[in-house]
Amino acid sequence: MNAIIISGSTIAGKFREELKQRVKTLTETWMQPGLAVILVGDNPASRVYVRNKAKTCDELGIRSEVFSFPGDISQKALLQQIQDLNANTEIHGILVQLPLPGHIHIDEIIAAIAIEKDVDGFHPCNVGALAAGHALFHPCTPFGVMKMLAEFNIPLQGQHAVVVGRSNIVGKPMALMLLEKGATVTVCTSRTRDLASHTRNADIIVMATGKVNLLTGDMVKPGATVIDVGINRLPDGRLCGDVEFSGVKEKAGYITPVPGGVGPMTIVMLMNNTIEAAERARATAQAVARQSSMQ
Ligand code: NAP
Repeated sequence: MNAIIISGSTIAGKFREELKQRVKTLTETWMQPGLAVILVGDNPASRVYVRNKAKTCDELGIRSEVFSFPGDISQKALLQQIQDLNANTEIHGILVQLPLPGHIHIDEIIAAIAIEKDVDGFHPCNVGALAAGHALFHPCTPFGVMKMLAEFNIPLQGQHAVVVGRSNIVGKPMALMLLEKGATVTVCTSRTRDLASHTRNADIIVMATGKVNLLTGDMVKPGATVIDVGINRLPDGRLCGDVEFSGVKEKAGYITPVPGGVGPMTIVMLMNNTIEAAERARATAQAVARQSSMQ
């Protein structure tokens, strides 16, 4: 078998056209959607991610503002910046680029973001709402994976999904989203005994570990769907995922490549959440205006 390639780049391209239209409507009838990105320190990977997000905002017509701070910024100053952005009516989404320096209490920073502007979906209230099945914002990477599965009509109900990785930004929300769609979900971690015994039973495997070639062809059931979230840099500079692509594509029914798989979808889902935040803000503003005109 030679797996069908699920190209995130192609699906993301389709979404972009739809998003551009929504931005145009908002801008022409109300105001331009705005995203604020907070960057602390000089982590080179974070700088690249932030640059790409700002570039995509530009391409779609979203206003983006990057707030860069030195690595020794205080907790108090960072919290103040978030309060200012919460109060700024021209900013609809706020994103704090992770990781943050060790002296910063990340949980307190994320919890300070107004939930209606938490476009990453990491605020504890949004995490709780996701667990309860009514998330305000879905975390972008697993949300992108769900869109990829939907695009190829991959059935989820009653299917066995194995998520490898339990991080707050990928593995856990991924498992919750699959569960919500009726999949039977197993979550594996670095402590899991005999990983292959789980993945071999899976109809859908989502790899999110950051370990090169962790999933090999012999660990996959014929015809399974394999989603590779991992982004790893090889010593020669090339990017690869967590899946040994050439071997697994011989066994799987569907597979995502790296690069060009989940990565392009993540950024598009961030744009989607930002536009959604702006659309909700417009609906609230209109409701308030209607009420005050009736008084
Ligand atoms: P993370 O916080 O480091 O979590 C990695 C998870 O993998 C942990 O839960 C860990 O288990 C588990 N793990 C590690 N080795 C394992 C093994 N041998 N067997 C089973 N599980 C194992 O990483 P993350 O932030 O979730 O990111 C995961 C990967 O996705 C990284 O490569 C990252 O760059 C990539 N990523 C990609 C995108 C995208 O847009 N494509 C977005 C975010 C992240 P323990 O909990 O037991 O340690």
